[in-house]
Amino acid sequence: MKAAMLYGIEDIRIEEMEIPKCEGDYLIVELKKATLCPTDLKKYYGHKDDVEVGLNEEGPYILGHEAAGIVIETGENIKNFQAGDRVAIQPMISCGECHYCKMGKKNMCLNLLGVGGSAGNFGDCIRLMKEEGIGGCFATHLKVPEQCVIKLPDEIDYAAGSLIEPLADVIHSINKVGVDENDTVVIIGLGPMGLFHTIVASYHKAKKIICIDIDDERLKLSGKLGADIILNSSKEDVIQGVLSLTNNIGADKIFVTAGGKAQKSCVEQALAMVAKEGKINLFASADINEEKLTVSLNDIHYRMVTLTGTVGFEDKHAEEAIEILKNKHFDYNLIRNIEYPLDQIVEGIEDYGKGKNIKVGLDLSK
Ligand SMILES: [Zn+2]
Ligand SMILES: [Zn+2]
Repeated sequence: MKAAMLYGIEDIRIEEMEIPKCEGDYLIVELKKATLCPTDLKKYYGHKDDVEVGLNEEGPYILGHEAAGIVIETGENIKNFQAGDRVAIQPMISCGECHYCKMGKKNMCLNLLGVGGSAGNFGDCIRLMKEEGIGGCFATHLKVPEQCVIKLPDEIDYAAGSLIEPLADVIHSINKVGVDENDTVVIIGLGPMGLFHTIVASYHKAKKIICIDIDDERLKLSGKLGADIILNSSKEDVIQGVLSLTNNIGADKIFVTAGGKAQKSCVEQALAMVAKEGKINLFASADINEEKLTVSLNDIHYRMVTLTGTVGFEDKHAEEAIEILKNKHFDYNLIRNIEYPLDQIVEGIEDYGKGKNIKVGLDLSK
């Protein structure tokens, strides 16, 4: 097999290696398409504390967790899959035994690890690859436990299948606060995940979708994906904008998808434009130094505002992602709008989000 090995910060090398041995509860997937995620970029650029330590102590690692392919081998305990099955990767590796796993909330697992280092301590993920051969998706082959594959219906091609993970994350976010035809929805931040929120909110038939960003191109694109109104926060007062669009009532459901240093001020905007009994979901992660937020206690009490967050997804959210992709509710090429061969992964990483690029795909067969 061929893999993109991360040796250190900004140091990826394409290497040939043996396909891991398949036994017991595991399967081998020949991967066809993958998609890059900001989580991969954070690792590549060393924006997380545990990356350099993990690589130094445990050795090189294969990133990547958004992918789809075909099962080529199954261990003797696998009953529900067989060679030839088309599958998408579900990257969360949960223990199945802790308090949260028993409730079906594997995204909250106390011992959670992730394919391609997408969850848990990075060094622990590398050890899982060294000891059991379970690495990441920027490779032609992947060994995974059965819990990490989802069957792909024929209507969904491999490139679309590689978007099931990020889409399921967003469906979790939308369903956490619930969106229906009575809701005015605001989405703050139009990275790929903000654009996915626009798509899913429109799938849920929100009454009005207002998208906020500083980039006119992204705002225009959100219009194609379901936004009714777009507001550029670098050019106008978006709090006043939302209030005047809602007769001074405010928005029912607000999703903050802008992360990092921008997040705190976006949440403050959300609190200033939310309706009574409105709900705000924090989708993205904040700056590494974890900014603290000051919240008015009377917003929570008298105005009955809900402030919550989501991470990862549950099985039911992946099922809805499959429904949306199967129904061709949107053209996924508008989101995954550029693709590179695996050999050019570094170019792909460098081009992520640049200019008109939204999500960068990888063709793993080249
Ligand atoms: Zn992802
Ligand atoms: Zn668990």
